[in-house]
Parts: sequence; structure tokens; C-alpha cells
Amino acid sequence: ATGNIRRVAVLGGGITGLSAAFYLLKLAKQRGEVIEVTVLEGSNRLGGKINTLRRDGFVIERGPDSFLARKLPMIELARELGIEGELTGTNPKAKKTYIALDGKLHPMPEGLTLGIPSDPEKFMKTELVSEEGKLRALEDLNIPSGEDRGDEPVGEFLERRMGREMVERIFEPLLAGIHAGDLYRLGLQSTFPQFKQMVREHGSLIAGTREAQRAASEAIGKTEQASAAAMDASASLVPVHDSSELPSSVFMTFRNGLSTVIEALESSLITEGAKISFDEQVEALELVPGESKSSRNAYRLRMDGDTTFDADEVLITLPAYETAGLLAPHVDVSALTNVRYVSVANVVLAYDEAGFNQDLDGSGFLVPRGEHRHITASTWTSSKWLHTAPEGKRLIRCYVGRAGDEKGVELNDVILSAVVQRDLHDLTGLTATPEFVEITRLRHSMPQYPVGHLDAIAALRENLITQLPGVVVTGAAFGGVGLPDCVAQGKQAAETILAR
Ligand code: FAD
Repeated sequence: ATGNIRRVAVLGGGITGLSAAFYLLKLAKQRGEVIEVTVLEGSNRLGGKINTLRRDGFVIERGPDSFLARKLPMIELARELGIEGELTGTNPKAKKTYIALDGKLHPMPEGLTLGIPSDPEKFMKTELVSEEGKLRALEDLNIPSGEDRGDEPVGEFLERRMGREMVERIFEPLLAGIHAGDLYRLGLQSTFPQFKQMVREHGSLIAGTREAQRAASEAIGKTEQASAAAMDASASLVPVHDSSELPSSVFMTFRNGLSTVIEALESSLITEGAKISFDEQVEALELVPGESKSSRNAYRLRMDGDTTFDADEVLITLPAYETAGLLAPHVDVSALTNVRYVSVANVVLAYDEAGFNQDLDGSGFLVPRGEHRHITASTWTSSKWLHTAPEGKRLIRCYVGRAGDEKGVELNDVILSAVVQRDLHDLTGLTATPEFVEITRLRHSMPQYPVGHLDAIAALRENLITQLPGVVVTGAAFGGVGLPDCVAQGKQAAETILAR
């Protein structure tokens, strides 16, 4: 180390890495410590998956488009960066979501929370599920919780409680969409741990959901947030938002796009003296043993251009396959190589109002696997988020690609755009021609947490403490893919480093 100043390298300039760097500097300052923070980013831009395109008055998200508002860390970060005034919620008039069945869109049954029929009376009215399927779903109330099977695939668990039809028609499009995944391969404990907890504590998913809603409406007194209480779709149990001064909305974003938070983080990091290095694709991590027994080890990072960077501590926030490459010479990385990644394409279509023959009276639609469409989900962006399109224009976004069906992602632009427009036409009747189409392919972007993920990650971290002390791994591959989860994980990693 140069004198006593700790040099921390943060690998990756996505939301996790930038949040980690931000909290490293902030917490060090609070403790009166001086540290040197360098962000090494492999590409020529910051943000990772977050990538806003501002074009012709449109705010277009090429990656994530919003975050779950009840998870505090993102809102806290916005406050600390002074950009909370930029936060905005969804259009309250565009709540309806549709699901495709046999080539037609059906409104999502009422009284469902994360797919669970918490209001059976309303649920019984839906046409999306057959009569037998509905009765089978309600058996959840009577099926004993049974012995603890440890972690298991989400699909098997839900099928046992509510039957196959509910999994195929409701849960798969709704829940798997978050991960572009296959419910029969995703691990319950790392993706929807609250489901198991509900059954354990309240005897069934239905009773557990009702209880969560009751508790939330007592705590907050608002029905919308009450239904969001059960929407905690990831492993990390981050604190929830109950502030009344912010827009009341289940999801939030920034009115100028999610890149707002990346830009604010970048300027804060620069002001606070962090270094940010672009085009630094880290390819190897080497241990540089301390000179004496009592002195600490340091690490040498090798970049693809054959430059090196030395650091006392290394905070890695890369996709699992990249992290695995760096750690494989030192520790067992099966916890990382077992996380498969799915590719998706995001197709955004911008239209003029003239000739636009669809009223988009909701937030969008979901397409179950069995429909065999290219589109897996579509957001009616300009209806759901009023800030995203200028006066007189419309914006729609469609996702293509999911676990087991990723071929569509590699169709060329012309064909991809055409098949997406054909699906839109078949499902919604839309015939208008877009003014422009923006296609983004996010290859190997959606981590699939396997059964046993949390235990495997805990074991990896234990190994790192002894084999590579000062190397900390975190990010979307670990304890939650949602943006607030990533911020929380970045902050936690910063605390871990500073506590050494
Ligand atoms: P990343 O954003 O992947 O950042 C990693 C960074 O590391 C990148 O900048 C990359 O260039 C860099 N890098 C990679 N390898 C190296 C290397 N060897 N050396 C140096 N740098 C390297 N979440 C939500 O909450 N709401 C949503 O609406 C939502 N929608 C999504 C839609 C899509 C299409 C995808 C893919 C994800 C979505 N998510 C959403 C999830 C969320 O966007 C991600 O989990 C999150 O952005 C990941 O942040 P990260 O910093 O952990 O990783």
C-alpha cells in the first residue's frame, strides 16, 4: 500500500459497482478514514444493464425501466445523491395488465397478488384458468405444509400447492418474466423465499398473502402498497418504503430515465476523488503476498490490454461467469458456474398518434410459453409512464427471449422488428407502422439462480475469507437482481470492506 492509504479496486461500473464505490467513500469519510477507490469498467460507459436513450423527446430504456418502490435502498440512494425530486411513479390510470391465451389478451384476473388468488371470489370469475384449474388452485388452503424439503424449484413448489394449470397460465408468465427464466429450474429460496415462509407461518399461500396484505394495509393504510407488500420478488430482505412524501406507486423510475442515477453517481464519485477507468476489461486476479507474515496481501489485476492495477482490496460486481474466471485459479467456483444466464432482446417501437388504432388501456401484457410467440412480455410504456413520450406520440416495448427459447434474440434487426410487429398485431390488433424501432440485445444478461444458490454462495464467500482475504464478490448474480437489491448489495459490500 502507498503509505497507509487503502487502495480499493471496484470491478464493474454497473449499479452495484457504482453504489459500492459511493458508499465506500461515504462511509470512509464518516469514519475519518482515507481510502483510494478506483472503478475498473470493461466497456466505454457506466451503468451496465441500465442504459437510457433520450431520443426525439422520448425516454427509452434499453435495459431495466423501473424499480420496486417499497424496497428502500434505491430511494435512499436517490436522496443521498439529491435526485429524489426526479423520482416518478406509474400512471394510476394504466393499472390493467393482460395475459395472452389462445392468441387473445385477457385481463389479469382480479384479486391476484404475485399470482396468488388472495381474493378467491374475484379469481373464480376469470376465463384464463379452467374451472378445474381454479378449484385445484384453491386446494392450497387445505394442503398441509408438509416436511421441509430444503430448497427446490419454484415450479415444483407452486405446482404442488396450486396445480400445473396455474403455473402455466399465471405464475410462469408473471414470475418467470422477472428472470426471463424457467420456473422449473429457478431455486425457490433465492427467488421467492416469501412463498415458503407464508406456507410455513400461515398454512397456505392464500392465507399468507392475505395476512401480508392485512399487515401492510395496517402499516401503510393504502391498498396499492398493500398489494405490493407481497411483491417482494427477490431474496434480499431489504427494508421497505413507507414514506408519504413520494409518489405512491408500486414501481418508480426517474423522469429522465434510470441513467439519471448513474450520472449522479458518476459525478459524486468524481467530486469525492474516486478514479473511474474505462475500457479496463479485467482478465486475471493474482495474489501478491505480503512482505512479512504480519503484512497484508495485495492483489494484482491484469487487464486485456496487458496493463495491471494493484489494490489492497478488490470488490467484484461482475456477471457470475466473469467473476468465476477471475477466481477459478484460487477457489472452487461452482457456485458461480452453476448460475446460467439467459439472453433477451428489448424491442422498443415509437409511433405517431395519427393512425394509431389501439387505446393501450393498461400497462401491457404477458405471454405464457405455451402461446409460442416471439414476444414474452410487452409494456405499453407511454401509457404506464407518462414522461416517456412527447405529446402526440406512443411508445411500446417488447421483450423477446427466455430460458429454453433464446433463438429469437439473434434474428437480424429487420426480421426481429417484423416478427414483433406481427405478434403485436395478432394480440392487440395494432396495425400502425412505427416511426422508429430501437433494438437492444442483452446477451447473457439474466442470471438464473439454481436450487441451492444461497448456500453455495455462502460457502464461496467463506472460502474467499480464508483464501483471498479482502476480495469481496456481489451484484445481481448473488442476492437479488432488482435494482434496489443491487444497491443494497453494493452498500453491504462496502461495509464489509471497511470493517476489515
Ligand atoms: P451490470 O449492470 O451487469 O454491471 C456489470 C458491469 O461490469 C458492466 O458495466 C460491465 O461492462 C462490466 N464488466 C463486465 N465484465 C467485466 C470485466 N471483466 N472487467 C471489468 N468490467 C467488466 N431490475 C429492476 O429492478 N427493474 C427492471 O425493470 C429490470 N429490468 C431488467 C431488464 C433487463 C433486460 C435486464 C437484463 C435486467 C433487468 N433488471 C431489472 C435487473 C437489473 O437491471 C440488473 O440486475 C442490474 O442492473 C445489474 O447491475 P450490476 O451492477 O450488478 O451488473
